[in-house]
Amino acid sequence: MTAQIHLFPCLQDNFGVLLHDSESGATAAIDAPEAAPVEAALKATGWRLTDILVTHHHADHTGGIAELKQKYSCRVVAPQGEAARIPLVDVTVRENDKVKVGSLEARVFETPGHTAGHISYFFPSDKLAFVGDTLFSIGCGRVIEGTPPMMWQSLLKLRALPDDTKVFCGHEYTAANIRFCKTIEPDNPDLAARESEVTRLLADGKSTVPSLMGAEKKQNTFLRADDPKVAAAVGLAGKPAADVFAEVRARKNKF
Ligand SMILES: [Zn+2]
Repeated sequence: MTAQIHLFPCLQDNFGVLLHDSESGATAAIDAPEAAPVEAALKATGWRLTDILVTHHHADHTGGIAELKQKYSCRVVAPQGEAARIPLVDVTVRENDKVKVGSLEARVFETPGHTAGHISYFFPSDKLAFVGDTLFSIGCGRVIEGTPPMMWQSLLKLRALPDDTKVFCGHEYTAANIRFCKTIEPDNPDLAARESEVTRLLADGKSTVPSLMGAEKKQNTFLRADDPKVAAAVGLAGKPAADVFAEVRARKNKF
């Protein structure tokens, strides 16, 4: 019942992920930024691709689907709201649906904001969350198709996952996110600790993902828009968390 994970870089700063169920041999790619690195990862692990679980329609998450589907005849699972914009979809899913990868089972969370139909996949037995471009380590995705209150609700949904959940996001943006969050919370000791950790990981050529949800809750300013200290820091003391979140996100867009 234990999932194996293989994480690797794709494109400029995307992550590719393979999730493997040793019991059945099933292997899912979470998104498919491009085919070649996914194939290299399959070769390196000896796993055979059976599924692609898509988080959202952006090209840097779906560009490899057509080629991989042609080679492996894998099943493509995609958000119902975006299926028309994703190639070769076999199964569409929405809030609370279950998705099986061999004996592993994910629960689908609708996490709109970055795109209107964005979904995240949570595997409760292994406490793995694949959150695409909704939540980043120490950041969150740009609010492109949704509204800031919508994105804030999506982040709250993810924040409610257990503290020991491993969070896999779509991009290696952590160092830049930390630089930004420090402008709002220069004295957050948990953020400072994460900065040291990330500096060390990157110097060693390692990725900063996955992170733990419990740590993100303390370190990620975007997840703490309902903390009075964050509200005060952006001049919105006493205002609704969604407004504080919108201001933090707007500042990041200009950072
Ligand atoms: Zn995206």
